[in-house]
Formats: sequence, C-alpha cells, structure tokens
Amino acid sequence: MPFGPYVAAALAAAEVYLHVRLPDHVARATGAYGWDCWQQTLTTRPDATAPTDLSGLDLTGTALAGVGAVGTTWIHTLWATPGLTGDITLADADKKGVTTTNLNRCPLFGHASLNKAKAHEAARIANDCAITWHSHHNRLEALDGTPTMLISAVDTNRARDALQQRYPPRILSASTRDLRAEVLRAGPPGAGACLRCYNPPEPFVGDDTLRARARADGPGAVRALAVEAGVTEADVHRWLDRGDCDEVGTRLLTTLRRNEPEPPTRFAVGFTSATAGVLLATETIKTLLDHPMTPGSQDSNNATIQFLNPTAPVNHATRLGPDPRCPACALTNPATTIWQRRVAQLDVDGARRRPV
Ligand SMILES: [Zn+2]
Repeated sequence: MPFGPYVAAALAAAEVYLHVRLPDHVARATGAYGWDCWQQTLTTRPDATAPTDLSGLDLTGTALAGVGAVGTTWIHTLWATPGLTGDITLADADKKGVTTTNLNRCPLFGHASLNKAKAHEAARIANDCAITWHSHHNRLEALDGTPTMLISAVDTNRARDALQQRYPPRILSASTRDLRAEVLRAGPPGAGACLRCYNPPEPFVGDDTLRARARADGPGAVRALAVEAGVTEADVHRWLDRGDCDEVGTRLLTTLRRNEPEPPTRFAVGFTSATAGVLLATETIKTLLDHPMTPGSQDSNNATIQFLNPTAPVNHATRLGPDPRCPACALTNPATTIWQRRVAQLDVDGARRRPV
C-alpha cells in the first residue's frame, strides 16, 4: 500500500526542512517515530489488523472538488493502491490551469502539464489503473447530481461553503495551514463539524467596487466583459452608468466576481499538502469500509498532523463538534434535516449491502 511510504517520505522531508530552515527551533525527536493511517495516530509500528488487500473496492459515487496540491496527492494515492475500482468525478475550475507555481506541490504534474486544465490533465496521467476518472473543467457544485461521497480539497472557505450547500451524505475534507495538515469527516449533521464550520467565507468585493473597477479598466475590458458574459457592449455601458439589478447586471456581476483573484495563497510546503492528500485518501477508503477514523474513539472525525514538533501529542484524531455560529448545519436550518435524511438513507443502504 502507498499510504505508509508516502507519509514516511513527508515526515522525512519535514525533518530536512526543520534542520535547514529552523535549526534552532526545537529539540529534535530522537529514535523512531511514525504515523499509522489506519488509526490516524502516532506510532512506531504499523497496525497489524489493517487490511492488506483492497481488491474490488468500488469508489463509484465519489467526487473530488479541487485538483491542486492536496487533490493531486489524493488521486496519486488512489492510483497507486492496488485493487481499487469504480467511477470517480474530478472537478477543478482554475482558469489558469497548471502553472509553474503548481509543479513543486502537485505530484502528478510535470512540465508537459503546463497550461492544461487540472482535472483533465490529472485524469489523463492517472488513467492506467482500474479507476475510471470523469474530469470536468468546472466547479463541482455546478455539475448535475449530488455525489454519494464528496471529497473537498479546495483551498478557500468560499469554495467550502458552496460545496457544503449540496449536502452530500458523506463529506470528507482536507486542508493545510502553515506546517499543519488536517483531515475531517464532516458530520454527523448537527453533531460533528461541516465544511462551513469554523470557515467563514472570505468577503465578496462589493457591487459598486466591481462596477467602478470595470469602468476604470477602459474600452478593451468592456468589450471582453461583454463577450464573456454574453451581452452587448451597449448593455455593459448601460449597466456601468446605472448599475441596474436586472438580468444583465446579475450576469455581469457574476462574470466579474468569477474573474476576481482568489484570496492570496497562504504559505505552503509540499510535505504538508502531500500528507493531507494521503490522509484524505485513507479516510476515503476507511469510510467505504465502515472503519472509524481511529479505533477506540468511534466519534473522532478530525485528524491533525503538525510538522513543527512531529511527535507532540496534538498530532492525533479527535472529535470536532459543530461551530455554534455555523448557519449551514444549524439544527434550525431545514437543509440540515435533508442532510440527516440522506445520511440515514445511505447508512440503511450500506447495511443492506454488507454481507451478514
Ligand atoms: Zn457547520
């Protein structure tokens, strides 16, 4: 299985990083240390009860949102796991496609991938396995249908909020921050954190600001905006002058918002996103096998590895409850009831499929 080797490589890379970049930071760990993905816990030896054969495990119904550093590692890990099968949706809307800044952290991509759409390129590269990848150069939430298991590897809170709004019965998410990788099994609805919990969406730029900027950008920008939004240049000028909230105005604002730069990318190093992607892949498989995130604590839904002090006890799996200020999974939100119903239905279906 690739999980152990991939995590070990990330831990080793982190040791090099700490020695080179932060040599005076901490007393270094002595002796052996490691991480077991079947239990999501620090350990020096692998769990002997973890499965060694995943032949025929079907991932159909799974969809990945975000084919960046974490997402490509998730794909890489599943591609390298013998026996997996099924149909998986890949979605990424990044208009720039693969850029040189992606190459150090997206393990699937090389120079031949530059300027190509991320989802299509990942599907092409990983096609020599038994999984069939269905790639879309689009946001996952813009596609038809709701996946059974949504895998969130997006990097903005706005995107997390949009994905949560689809309320798929199973939601897994991975994220990174500084030298920390984290994976979440969202829910159960109302009892465990959702994608939106603790992640307030980044503020939108106001309508008037967008209009003022479009006006200042000049005639060339007006022409391009008209083409992209599918309206006439006269329509654009009318909207720039009056700011009507009619269909044209809505369309222009949507187009301008889509073109707004994403919030600045935070500091990120390859071994944290690689770890997040591997943890996400193992949780995907464990969820399909009905295995808890960590044995002995059935309600743990959140695992964290920070690399600054890799053997610290904060590196473990725990329970992350809902954010009391989260509107997306509040019990007063009717959507939460729908989410609960979908989860319950899938639990029943899953129990029916399992051999007695
Ligand atoms: Zn929530």
